[in-house]
Amino acid sequence: MRIGAHVDSADPLSEAAARRAEAVQFFLSDPQGWKAPQPRADADRLRAAEVDLYVHAPYVVNVATLNNRIRIPSRKLLLAHARAAAEIGARGLIVHGGHVNAGDDLAVGFDNWRKTFAYAADSGGFGLPVLIENTAGGDNACARRLDALARLWDAVGEYEVGFCLDTCHAHAGGEELLDLVDRVKAITGRVDLVHANNSKDAFGSGRDRHDNLAGGSIDPEQVVAVIRAADALVIVETPGGTDGQAADIAFLRGRLGAEGPAA
Ligand SMILES: [Zn+2]
Repeated sequence: MRIGAHVDSADPLSEAAARRAEAVQFFLSDPQGWKAPQPRADADRLRAAEVDLYVHAPYVVNVATLNNRIRIPSRKLLLAHARAAAEIGARGLIVHGGHVNAGDDLAVGFDNWRKTFAYAADSGGFGLPVLIENTAGGDNACARRLDALARLWDAVGEYEVGFCLDTCHAHAGGEELLDLVDRVKAITGRVDLVHANNSKDAFGSGRDRHDNLAGGSIDPEQVVAVIRAADALVIVETPGGTDGQAADIAFLRGRLGAEGPAA
């Protein structure tokens, strides 16, 4: 069971060591911006690292929307991030499920996801696994509730698509964590990554505010149960900087009987 954290992108390997993390996730550009990722000076070091690397796509990416001025640049930015992530040896690129605007047909949003994978395939492929992550909010989201997730998977099922399960997003989004992995796997057939986060907000609130595992509105044992059921690599995206995340990783290792990296 490998466990890591979402960290600052400047020196991810030092951040990993400071947390005794076996994996790190980071951004390759401003998550609120549209800039394409730039080549990294530490690419060789990252590729050779023992630590497993994951890249999170910018939050602005929304390949589902019917708005051309967002969808088309989102598609291109997603592909650019996938290529840049592959270049540093990342194991996956995580991207939020996205949404359509109020009054727009969600079915078109799912088809836009299919077109995104078709576009990437026609462009030579993403170059690494792309993992769609469930989201906490929105009434027109593609991957908040499992009924939508099932329709999304119907649309993209012909492509090799991964899934990232975020426990905070599921809880705040209104999906019970009990047996959640089984219900997700019945749709996707897989969980590639778990984002293990507690939630500052109530069940079904639709709000996306992560908390440390021992805090928040989720019983931490439910997060542990999700991880056990998923049997996938774990990333904490919790607050409190190095100390807060190191404590969350240590908590999970204690509950899961995982030793972590040699000191
Ligand atoms: Zn997440």
